[in-house]
Amino acid sequence: MTAPDAGERYALVVRSRRAVLPGGERPAAVAVRDGRIAAVLPYDHPADGAARVDLGAVCLLPGLVDTHVHVNEPGRTAWEGFATATRAAAAGGVTTIVDMPLNSIPPTVDVGALAVKRAAAAGRCAVDVGFWGGAVPGNTAALRPLHEAGVRGFKCFLSPSGVEEFPPLGPAGLAEAMREVASFDGLLVVHAEDPGLLTDPTGPTYLEFLASRPGEAERAAVERVIALARRTGARAHILHVSSAACLAPLEAARRDGLRVTAETCPHYLTLTADQVRGPEFKCCPPLRDRGNRDRLWEGLAAGTLSCVVSDHSPSTPDLKVPDFAASWGGVSSLQVALPAVWTEARARGHTLADVARWMSEAPARLAGLPGKGAIAPGRDADLVAFDDTAAFTVDAARLHHRNPITPYHGRTLTGAVLTTWLRGRELTPATPPTGILL
Ligand SMILES: [Zn+2]
Repeated sequence: MTAPDAGERYALVVRSRRAVLPGGERPAAVAVRDGRIAAVLPYDHPADGAARVDLGAVCLLPGLVDTHVHVNEPGRTAWEGFATATRAAAAGGVTTIVDMPLNSIPPTVDVGALAVKRAAAAGRCAVDVGFWGGAVPGNTAALRPLHEAGVRGFKCFLSPSGVEEFPPLGPAGLAEAMREVASFDGLLVVHAEDPGLLTDPTGPTYLEFLASRPGEAERAAVERVIALARRTGARAHILHVSSAACLAPLEAARRDGLRVTAETCPHYLTLTADQVRGPEFKCCPPLRDRGNRDRLWEGLAAGTLSCVVSDHSPSTPDLKVPDFAASWGGVSSLQVALPAVWTEARARGHTLADVARWMSEAPARLAGLPGKGAIAPGRDADLVAFDDTAAFTVDAARLHHRNPITPYHGRTLTGAVLTTWLRGRELTPATPPTGILL
């Protein structure tokens, strides 16, 4: 707890019997001034605010930081866009997103393309938005200028990305990108599947698609990234780990003190291959079996996986065709990521403090956002009122992202976002966009 500024009136004081602070869950009054958390006080402290909210037994969480969102604007704005994606984020308790460099046209692979993307986002965002750059064959010289222009790091693929304008790096290209990123202590974030171990699906069913993308392909690619991190000293992050086969090499890299981190996604923690009903469940890498899912939870509990982020990757409905070999691979989940993870986390004995660490604190650290990720003095007043016992059934048509498709449609989840504050300002679907481009 921090000493109050005596006699001062805050812009906002939010009280909760269950505030999720860096040290765990406890009663607190969070005092906000100029958009930042000015003090974290005892619940019954008489601090006065121009606005006062008492949540009682409803939880107060730090705003979520989702570092894996494909907004797709400009260029594929029919798939998603800054206005719709950030409205979905706000409704889901996500107060910062970091946009992926691909599926937009142009992809964010040089400073000019970043300017185009920032212009598309400006004035349209309900929450704060940061940007990843892209590392593709031939753009090594563009990485440092992009870093200096403020991208949070660089995404690359080792296998085809799904869009032709964002090709993968070969072994030599990956080594070159890692050496370059290490030269300015940047961060490379990697879609890690070894193309040599992927095959074309032998038919249209989900099981044939799953067989074409084995966990071995992920493990081999993760081992290659770790070897290069060891050789170059580069910081690297493995995106969307779906296979528990990756945990052993990641754990060994951590023991060796390498700067290699990893994330997984709500769908790999909550959905399994036997539950797949249609192409809305298709993603790359794929949903696997229940035993694999259980081991991902163990990796999360052990800290081998540090972040849980959505990999929200929508498309228009016409691209989600019944043939799994041909369907667009991407899951839409931005707005329901928190309740999806909480529903499963709670059943497995985890706490909201764990969820806040995985979905807010660790992603903020990954993306280099020291003002985000915790309810603590000096941080942005990004706050979420979360009823951790309310159950609801997901209706895709009522979500705010552009196309009403999600594998969570019809599922009953536990946990409802009641209110989201961005830098101390309450967000509603009618609030004009006040998100900042980070
Ligand atoms: Zn992605």
